[in-house]
Amino acid sequence: MSQDVNTASNNLPVLRVSQAMQLRDNDQWENRFEIHSETSNRVYIIAQHKKKRHWGCSCPSYRTRRRCKHLEDIGLPTNETPYEALIRS
Ligand SMILES: [Zn+2]
Repeated sequence: MSQDVNTASNNLPVLRVSQAMQLRDNDQWENRFEIHSETSNRVYIIAQHKKKRHWGCSCPSYRTRRRCKHLEDIGLPTNETPYEALIRS
């Protein structure tokens, strides 16, 4: 029986990200993907820190305050709170 991707065996929450928006890992970050700003034509990158396990965003708000609406909209914790989730397309 094939496993339902919405209920992975470890019961981690699943983030739905289209394949076109997913990015390769870099040295510090994994589970990287692009999001489009609703208020401009900018593209920001959301990713999970490989060691500290928290999620971050490349937008100005996150860079200065460690929180932003992009993470909040997706349901990811801000302020460098460690959180495990799976990316699935
Ligand atoms: Zn952001």
